[in-house]
Amino acid sequence: MEQVRTGKGSRVYSVPLKMVKGKDKVLFSLKNLLTHYHFRLLNLFDNEDLVGIKINIHDGPSHHQIDPAFASLFIKHLKKRGVYPFLCDTTGRYQDRKVNAVSCVERANLSGFGFEKVGGAFLMLDGPDGRSGFSTEVSNVKGEVTDVHLVSDIQNINGMIVLVRPESNEFAGFSGALKTLGADLASKRGKIMMYSKSKPCVDKSKCFYCRKCMHKCPVGAITVDEINRNVEIDHDICINCGICVEVAKYGGIAYDWDADPEYFQKHMIENAMAVKDILGKKMLFANFLMYPEDMTKPYDEAEGFKGILVSRDPVALDKATYDLTGGSICYSHIKMNKLFEMAQKCGLGSTHYDLVDVSY
Ligand code: SF4
Repeated sequence: MEQVRTGKGSRVYSVPLKMVKGKDKVLFSLKNLLTHYHFRLLNLFDNEDLVGIKINIHDGPSHHQIDPAFASLFIKHLKKRGVYPFLCDTTGRYQDRKVNAVSCVERANLSGFGFEKVGGAFLMLDGPDGRSGFSTEVSNVKGEVTDVHLVSDIQNINGMIVLVRPESNEFAGFSGALKTLGADLASKRGKIMMYSKSKPCVDKSKCFYCRKCMHKCPVGAITVDEINRNVEIDHDICINCGICVEVAKYGGIAYDWDADPEYFQKHMIENAMAVKDILGKKMLFANFLMYPEDMTKPYDEAEGFKGILVSRDPVALDKATYDLTGGSICYSHIKMNKLFEMAQKCGLGSTHYDLVDVSY
């Protein structure tokens, strides 16, 4: 059952999808991994811990998500341990169907993550309007103290399990454990700052002088010249919250999403370090390299390994995901090994892993 490949790194457990219609086998192997005394992966969490199971509720087709049956398995076995598990996600950085908790909860229900299907509640970590966040400090890779902005409820839970179906991402290479930890758990303000180096600007051709931005700006950075019908943003006062962009429904105020991968990744790593400071060792990660709804289909982006990889170490997990898919999951312009090295240097995990096959 068990094979250790390298013998010198963090353990990455592999639950391969070996056969047509192999979902039940994968579920059985995963259950064994979570509960068997030999692995004790869920022993990370204590009785009465509040544990968020981070999933990604997508705007698009459901095959971008994990299969709800796997989320349900985690919930069931955490409950058996006396833990309080719940599914969770965060809102997006701009207006879309993930703009607030109401739209996300509806989307989660429609995607098969309702309570009656998975046996656990679905909650948002950034409040009803998606704007609940806080700022904290971390020492970055250069040893400089820097501010990061995270979703508020990360402070109110005891642990987290990240379940993600990795996809190509033009900034992070692919959206695996590290991207979820460092980008998805950033507050709306934190997300904006990762994707844009600049502050919002007025586009006069799309502005209808409704003045909503001026009234909503929390720091009074916007002035409207009534006579000349001119809207100005004082970038020295602006705290980059993005509210004006949201209320300017016709694009009268907008961001230049001008971040580059290096800039994004620096923020991503800093955010991930702050999350690790809060949750400590009570984190578990799983990358799902297969379709949720029809397990016989080929995984559309990745070549090589099909199945689930699980680890307590997000760096080792993403490195194994990258290696086992031959980089096919990833944008080629992203230097993934450099990113993994940086994450290791910042104490997020190890680039060395032992691959353990736990399939039956
Ligand atoms: S981003 Fe926020 S702080 Fe800056 S101008 Fe817009 S509403 Fe005001």
